[in-house]
Amino acid sequence: MGRAWNFSAGPAALPLAVLERAQRELLDWGGSGSSVMEQSHRGKRFIAMAEQAEADLRELLAVPEDYAVLFLQGGATQHFAQIPMNLAGQGERADYVITGHWSEKAASEAAPYVKVNIAASNRADDYRQVPARDGWQLDPGAAYVHVVANETIHGVEFHDIPTAGDVPVVVDMSSNILSGPLDVGRYGLIYAGAQKNIGPSGLVVMIVRRDLLERAGRPMAKIFRYAAHAAQGSMLNTPNTWGWYLAGLTFEWLKAQGGLAAMAARNEAKAGQLYAAIDGSGGYYRNPIDPASRSRMNVPFTLHDTALDALFLQESEAAGLLALKGHKAVGGMRASLYNAVPPEAVEALVAFMRDFATRHG
Ligand SMILES: *Cc1c(COP(=O)(O)O)cnc(C)c1O
Repeated sequence: MGRAWNFSAGPAALPLAVLERAQRELLDWGGSGSSVMEQSHRGKRFIAMAEQAEADLRELLAVPEDYAVLFLQGGATQHFAQIPMNLAGQGERADYVITGHWSEKAASEAAPYVKVNIAASNRADDYRQVPARDGWQLDPGAAYVHVVANETIHGVEFHDIPTAGDVPVVVDMSSNILSGPLDVGRYGLIYAGAQKNIGPSGLVVMIVRRDLLERAGRPMAKIFRYAAHAAQGSMLNTPNTWGWYLAGLTFEWLKAQGGLAAMAARNEAKAGQLYAAIDGSGGYYRNPIDPASRSRMNVPFTLHDTALDALFLQESEAAGLLALKGHKAVGGMRASLYNAVPPEAVEALVAFMRDFATRHG
């Protein structure tokens, strides 16, 4: 098999052009005689690349000056714990909005460090829609409000991430950052594990309003303190140099695609095509999510007869359509349509699904 269409939820597809460039540069990066992975992060060449990556990300998202951009490690999961350590003092409270698996996890990982208030939850509704903002029970004294912008497993997305007055909103955007334009200035802290829509795993990108870095948080080692990372340009210790480099190539690629408005249009069209195929299948395929909350990035769907699941997976893989098996928490199938998944991949998937339905009616 050559390069197949990859619908993996994460680690996910990377843009082909990015992989090809990394391949070309692997043995001799920019005439340096070694790969990017074999050089000091304190060297001139690496620092210049790192600064360019940050500048490109700032340009793509129009990040305001009073926000720091950090390139961290630990995965989004580590930051579920590290965010309350930094943003909440001992005994303080924080609001959590529950929309699916990852917000449940964020709340439970935060619980040792902050008094978690569940401000809203769609669990009783099987996570089929985001809870309407006017029903949130917000605590005006909360240190922050935590929201997951896109639930990667349940396929539920905020199409307009709410704000909460003076209380800063902390947003996990692991699976939809850079999928379209975003008004960064409305939020306190945005973070994303890289392996869905930015680069390889092992890197976390964080955009944080600088005044939040001045919060004392709780006593902790310096390595956990975001302010210390910001003060050292994310080089408090050795960063994920390979991840940072690939993220930089992805940012460059996004700019060449026309930026995030162009990506948003492309992503809308891709998701629209797949949802239309599901909804138009006469019940052969189903997506349970309220159309107003459907994710543009992760599309879970079931077959009308679960006895066909194994055959669907076997035939789709043979047709060069990878990683369509749904998460075990929801079953069925899931197609992840991140930036690096081209429209042709979705066309191939939709054609396969129609053909499968005809052959196994
Ligand atoms: C994948 C994912 C995570 C977990 O990321 P790790 O890097 O594995 O810790 C958290 N939140 C969301 C929304 C995700 O999609």
